[in-house]
Amino acid sequence: MQFTNTWYQELEGCYTALQPTPLKNPRLLFHSSSLADELELDASWFTPEKAGVWSGDLLLPGMQPLAQVYSGHQFGVWAGQLGDGRGILLGEQQLSDGRKMDWHLKGAGLTPYSRMGDGRAVLRSSLREFLASEAMHHLGVPTSRALTVVTSDEPVYRETAERGAMMLRVAESHLRFGHFEHFYYAQQPEKVRQLADYAIRHHWPHLKDEQERYLLWFTDVVKRTARLIAHWQSIGFAHGVMNTDNMSILGLTLDYGPFGFLDDYKPDFICNHSDYQGRYSFENQPMVGLWNLNRLAHSLSDLMTTDQLKQALAEYEPELMQAWGEKMRAKLGLVTQDKHDNAILTGLLAMMTKEGSDYTWTFRQLSLTEQQQSISPLRDEFIDREAFDSWYNIWRQRLLEEGRSDEDRQHQMKGANPAIVLRNYLAQQAIELAENDDISLLSRLHQALSHPFDDAPEFADLTKRPPEWGKKLEVSCSS
Ligand code: AMP
Ligand code: MG
Repeated sequence: MQFTNTWYQELEGCYTALQPTPLKNPRLLFHSSSLADELELDASWFTPEKAGVWSGDLLLPGMQPLAQVYSGHQFGVWAGQLGDGRGILLGEQQLSDGRKMDWHLKGAGLTPYSRMGDGRAVLRSSLREFLASEAMHHLGVPTSRALTVVTSDEPVYRETAERGAMMLRVAESHLRFGHFEHFYYAQQPEKVRQLADYAIRHHWPHLKDEQERYLLWFTDVVKRTARLIAHWQSIGFAHGVMNTDNMSILGLTLDYGPFGFLDDYKPDFICNHSDYQGRYSFENQPMVGLWNLNRLAHSLSDLMTTDQLKQALAEYEPELMQAWGEKMRAKLGLVTQDKHDNAILTGLLAMMTKEGSDYTWTFRQLSLTEQQQSISPLRDEFIDREAFDSWYNIWRQRLLEEGRSDEDRQHQMKGANPAIVLRNYLAQQAIELAENDDISLLSRLHQALSHPFDDAPEFADLTKRPPEWGKKLEVSCSS
């Protein structure tokens, strides 16, 4: 296995080199074998003797650990310097197909950017990030991934004492909006340029000789962000902390904290209990994405003219609407476009909002409906059956016009409407067991989330609507 260190070699001044601080008695609790395969790692890497590799005890040849410095806007306010307060970039794995992957160990101890924190992560939040990023990947959403979770005997204090843990996160890059903001506000425009050149060189190499490379690059960042958020909206994912330091330049979902997948369809759903104003509510995400891109644009103002920045930002809304439209049409089983499609979608969403229908369950059941029947089994899920009937007739009419077979449409719709997402209560149950060294549910859940579009009778219990208590769990930033 080969590691390179382009961040270390090429971006002096953008990090502090330092070693991880190991945990007491670390044990490898769990790993993602599908990711291990992608990273060309065989099973021998995940034996108990190798725990040191996953807990910062044992560095592999070529690794050059460092903490990155960045800043950001948090909840709409300039927060100044943040940086990797508890994560350490160990190195960049060189894959045989030429790609390189950051290995980032989260919970690796104090860094110069830890501020008031302890540099640690608890098992609960590590497992939430592990499961969520794996789930998102298998749903097809661009995201960082998670390779391993290590548990330990080290107590870490949050509201109470919890178990210290480390998670190895893998991503093509951890480059954030906040990296650019950091050097812009520090009045170091040459560093902003250096970061942009680095991004283009390593991640947009086809642009490096273009005259207008900064404009082309930033336009692509805008579009990737738009498509990412359209994807989140379509699967009912709320990030919870869309601060600019948590926004990936590559358009990946990054930094899972108090995220939530929708249970009941509530557009104003707030998953982060510390978000008192609802700034990062589910329905606000598209708008926040643009706000964040505006902050990034500001930081890039030495690289492009104002007109160029505006031109790139103007791509956001059409790109998002296009991507969202495509995803939602697929969820409704429509392959052609009709000017009334939007009314069909908003009609359904309005009914679901009124009745508090479960987002994932409703769309999955809709996929199973047979268009030849004038009554849908989904009808019984709605209290206002008349409203459902009138919506259903319009939708069914539209399907009949498309003239596809039920089999064909059902197959396509099941590929757009997952049977399973990482519901909060499922994560919670898996975590409580894992905290007592029982990984049975964690393992089942991980397996089910790895094939979210399949009909898997053995995982039927994981696809049900949550119990009432399961909808009321509170998650905050303290992780
Ligand atoms: P987040 O919003 O969770 O991504 O974190 C915001 C900032 O706080 C980042 O700079 C993190 O590195 C830092 N941070 C979060 N938790 C801790 C911790 N336990 N110790 C040190 N820094 C932390
Ligand atoms: Mg963060």
